Amino acid sequence: MTKNRTLMQYFEWYINPEENLWKKVKESAEHLKKIGITDIWLPPAYKGEAGNRDAGYGVYDLYDLGEFNQKGSIDTKYGTKDEYLSAIKELHKYNINVYADIVLNHKMGADESEEVFATLLDYNDRNIEKGTLEKIIAWTKYTFPARKNKYSSFKWDYSHFGGTDWDELQKRNGIFRFCGRHWNSDVDLENGNYDFLMGEDIDFDNVEVVEELKKWGKWYLNITEVDGFRLDAVKHISAKFMKEWIDTMQSEKDVLCVGEYWNRNIDSLKNYINETNNKIPLFDVPLHYNFYEASNKNSDYDLSKIFENTLVNEKPNMAVTFVDNHDTEPGQALFSWIEDWFKPLAYSLILLRESGLPCIFYGDYYGIPSQNISSKSYWLNNLVVLRADYGYGEQIDYFDNPNLIAWVRKGDSQHIDSGLVAIMSNKDGGSKKINLGESFSKATFYDYLGNVDKEVILDEFGNGTFLCNSRSVSVWVKKPEEKNDILDI
Ligand code: CA
Repeated sequence: MTKNRTLMQYFEWYINPEENLWKKVKESAEHLKKIGITDIWLPPAYKGEAGNRDAGYGVYDLYDLGEFNQKGSIDTKYGTKDEYLSAIKELHKYNINVYADIVLNHKMGADESEEVFATLLDYNDRNIEKGTLEKIIAWTKYTFPARKNKYSSFKWDYSHFGGTDWDELQKRNGIFRFCGRHWNSDVDLENGNYDFLMGEDIDFDNVEVVEELKKWGKWYLNITEVDGFRLDAVKHISAKFMKEWIDTMQSEKDVLCVGEYWNRNIDSLKNYINETNNKIPLFDVPLHYNFYEASNKNSDYDLSKIFENTLVNEKPNMAVTFVDNHDTEPGQALFSWIEDWFKPLAYSLILLRESGLPCIFYGDYYGIPSQNISSKSYWLNNLVVLRADYGYGEQIDYFDNPNLIAWVRKGDSQHIDSGLVAIMSNKDGGSKKINLGESFSKATFYDYLGNVDKEVILDEFGNGTFLCNSRSVSVWVKKPEEKNDILDI
């Protein structure tokens, strides 16, 4: 029997290092399995420049998974290497696939600086030079003295990077491109060319770099036994390199990869998917922004257009659908937090549909105490159960009203009594007459979420009139026979 997969992003930005996330996820593995989580995305596991305060995106040493006394601690923000490996083993015990968060675009927190010739570029158009070639001092030497060549003796210097954003000589910020380098052209075209993001930008035209990162990837797969990767910031990385790197990993193991290409323009996402030969499904950023707009515009938003210009609509098999993540939460760079009232609607729109791999955000499931955001697990658990037990079969949309939409999953023979009707409103609520087919003749349906406290009895042809409340969602499923017996007593 096949089961719908559900991914969980197991971290948020403000997690307290004292919490020890690796221990927490290990202890939660059984619970996660029980509620229906099949796949989990863990945060970057290697040492960042801020040591055990670094969320992991300021990568210092890719080989230090919390093993060496570097950047002020042995552990990372989430724990030690042994705790990380132990958590993965425990998740595997419950058949949960683990995705590692991989940051290959840049490095930060070099051990030494060196003199480099570089050209200052225009921040808003990185193809335009603002100065001439000049001497700067760049933090580009990564020698990892505390690791003492364990796992790899590779030492990074300026020849492995395309540029940096800090000149130590004149103590100034800016985007400096190193002499003789050019930005990769197969990257996002915002700001003229968006190869450069931050820190020391890794140069994928350098053969030594490419070989070292492949070697590292194989080491990582071998030591952690992860099942896949969540690739960070792919719009800043040569698409050709990324594809080549994944090919190499997939020649080792059948790993799943998902990419973070943060652009709300659907054509940019489709273009990247084509450039990488359909190897890298992407997070559905346009859908996230549709949710954001819908949650802010209230009844002025046309719900029937919620999937317009989204990846899940245009490339259904290449979309990882999500509601919020660590970058969109309050106080973060891409802040675009979905309002609370819309969250159950948004999660229904990703969890109960046939397309896309839905991803539940840790900050929604457990809450974000530092931002006074409460846990939504009480209804998220119900939606994951609905997905796992009922969300099967043909899907028919009733997207015929800007303020009231619904869809049907007709169920399939592999999942007994599966099938559901989801109906939601961003205004006054209402009802829709919907046909589920004669296999549901005379069946009794109830709202699994408990928002509407009524039953709907279908006629002999499988027609019923299903309801939802104002600014709410209801998910109607067939009432189990046992429940009738209990009520009779
Ligand atoms: Ca780059």
